[in-house]
Amino acid sequence: MSEVSIRPALITKVLPDSIASEVGFEVGDRIVSINGQRPRDLIDYQFLCADEVLELEVLDTAGKSHQVEIEKDYDDDLGLEFETALFDNLIQCNNRCPFCFIDQQPPGKRQSLYFKDDDYRLSFLYGSYLTLTNLTQREWQRIEQMRLSPLYVSVHATEADVRNRLLKNPRAGQILEQLRWFQKRRLQIHAQVVVCPGINDGVHLERTLLDLASFHKGEVPTVASVAVVPVGLTRFRPAEDELTPVTPEKAAEVIKQVRSLQDKFRDSLGTTFAWLADEWFLIAGEDLPPTSHYEDYPQLGNGVGSIRRFLKEFQEIAKNKLPQKVSPPRRFTWVVGNAVEVAFQPILRQLNQVAGLEVNLVALASNYWGQSITVTGLLTGQDLLEGLQGRDLGDRILLPSVMLKHDEARFLDDITVAELTNQLGVPLLPITDIEELIETCINPEINC
Ligand code: SF4
Repeated sequence: MSEVSIRPALITKVLPDSIASEVGFEVGDRIVSINGQRPRDLIDYQFLCADEVLELEVLDTAGKSHQVEIEKDYDDDLGLEFETALFDNLIQCNNRCPFCFIDQQPPGKRQSLYFKDDDYRLSFLYGSYLTLTNLTQREWQRIEQMRLSPLYVSVHATEADVRNRLLKNPRAGQILEQLRWFQKRRLQIHAQVVVCPGINDGVHLERTLLDLASFHKGEVPTVASVAVVPVGLTRFRPAEDELTPVTPEKAAEVIKQVRSLQDKFRDSLGTTFAWLADEWFLIAGEDLPPTSHYEDYPQLGNGVGSIRRFLKEFQEIAKNKLPQKVSPPRRFTWVVGNAVEVAFQPILRQLNQVAGLEVNLVALASNYWGQSITVTGLLTGQDLLEGLQGRDLGDRILLPSVMLKHDEARFLDDITVAELTNQLGVPLLPITDIEELIETCINPEINC
């Protein structure tokens, strides 16, 4: 990638009482270079800012250039946030996976919804999964030199022909060589396997998990953990995509198979190592494993143990925060995906024991995606409109923010929170975590 394609980094937030606010940085300023180097991304920015003396070239909102000198301790953060983590171009995906969620969206939406990224920098910064099929020599070198570890790798299958078939990319079959590359450099990955029945299940799944387990050894295990996830299909999937949905029977079969491997891994590796996403249990209609099963939740972002963890955290926080009574009385609708309807009942009972507080859980499936079992994060604005319109919704709607796009008050189908509020006639309150859920429920300033 040439230096020319790097854009000055646009500042969107200056943290109060930070070095940057003292120096006089303002939202809208742009950093061109730090000590003569133009940062490509947040990784470069953080690396360059580790110096004690910084000379920055900054463009103000009028486009005028300024030289700013800062002296600080090497580990002091400047206190700036940027429009994006990448100041050059996103590295795009070069695969054609039949199960790709981007291809399973309806046509005619905003162009950015169809953008397929496969960028190791986002993997390092935010834990998104990448395939390693599009890295140039220069990027491999950067991973090594900057020790960008752990990365999150979509392995799916370790047999070259099976992975080539899944990613529809002849470069995909190099995965074992690539894992050896990480091993030699003592760099780590977390892996995921999206199970597509009839393609990478059964003996292939077993082969994959055993191969990956062979990289879990030593002080710095190359493969730290694996998440086994069921393929998600929507009604917009392309015809002739050779995929089969995961049935309850298939889910039960995979649970049994992986559990038996987990027993072996616990004996030989001292860890469960390969983790089943919560969705398998929801599809199979089986109980989730207990909290004690999940060790330090290495694959939480992949929906492994997230329900158990949510319930546990609720208990811990509710113990100290939930009062006997709230005033003024208030009624809320809490909207979630129907996948968690049963699991969330204990939370609901506890909230409703607070005098003056009434919380009604509305658990929806997604007609938009055409899924009978839906995780909360996939519900769209249209699903909420269909599912909530005409109901008595109380004073407010509690809206899990996982339904919204990162940093935007907008659902996956592009409907905005403001549009939905307008149509439903009841304010929606985005809820990021349990603390916020409880605080919103008991907040005396909520004027109902
Ligand atoms: S690697 Fe990811 S983005 Fe690319 S085609 Fe496969 S699923 Fe889609």
